[in-house]
Amino acid sequence: MQDSGIKIVKTIDDMHQEATRLGLAGKTIALVPTMGFLHEGHLALIREAQRHGDTVVVSIFVNPTQFGPTEDFKAYPRDFNRDLYLARSAKADVIFAPSHETMYDNDHETFVQLKGLPDFLCGPSRPGHFRGVTTVVTKLFNIVKPQVALFGEKDYQQLAIIRRLTRDLSFDIRIIGVPTVREPDGLAMSSRNAYLSQEERLSALSLYQGLQIAKRMVTEGEITEANRIKEEVSRYITSHPYTKIDYVALCNPSTLKNINRVKEETLIALAVWVGTTRLIDNIVLKPR
Ligand code: AMP
Repeated sequence: MQDSGIKIVKTIDDMHQEATRLGLAGKTIALVPTMGFLHEGHLALIREAQRHGDTVVVSIFVNPTQFGPTEDFKAYPRDFNRDLYLARSAKADVIFAPSHETMYDNDHETFVQLKGLPDFLCGPSRPGHFRGVTTVVTKLFNIVKPQVALFGEKDYQQLAIIRRLTRDLSFDIRIIGVPTVREPDGLAMSSRNAYLSQEERLSALSLYQGLQIAKRMVTEGEITEANRIKEEVSRYITSHPYTKIDYVALCNPSTLKNINRVKEETLIALAVWVGTTRLIDNIVLKPR
């Protein structure tokens, strides 16, 4: 299906054919996997993708296998026509929007699972989440056959896991991380921000501000004790209504293992419930 400049592909067979056609024409493919309800963060990935591939394929698929039984799969915001408009305005070439039945047969039984990286950060609160992510990304890599794939640093652990998956399974695909796009006041853009009430939106800003407190503690205060930084950030965030900390972690940016002291570049990552919405954010701390 062609929609004034953007091609819409809905089946795996059609996407295989499209990828083969592009390959024969000598075109490289850059893939931007998304769950739709696009925002400026997704559009930054699409624009960056144009610098790395001749054809930009955006997948839109709310992947059921990465949601836990009590999570927001059903409620997850969806608006295909709006996504189409935004993807077209960011100059994507192909939208791959398969149905659930297309992606998962009733008797699907193959999953891709990493051994270590999913155990950190979001892993304990979202059992099975990364197994769903690595399974669907593996399928997308096989279906779209990209040379390049782009992921946001906002989902830092996901990016680390995809890099490891790509290396371990020898995918001939370059993984590119794109910096987090934020609202003017600093809140990281997320499709889930749509769930927030006005008051919750005010409290949600405390995630970004908490990260900035950590940054100042390290760069201006020269404080290196991870526990002190965690306590200060947690105290600040929980002083805002509707917030409940899932975790605040300081860890090695490659291994994601907890660190006790900030001696070199350190990831500070957090997950916070704001009302019934779970939000994540992170920055890399660079000690002086
Ligand atoms: P999602 O639709 O939330 O699964 O996200 C699709 C891709 O967009 C993932 O690689 C995310 O990391 C990335 N992404 C989501 N929000 C942002 C953001 N605020 N800035 C940059 N990338 C983002």
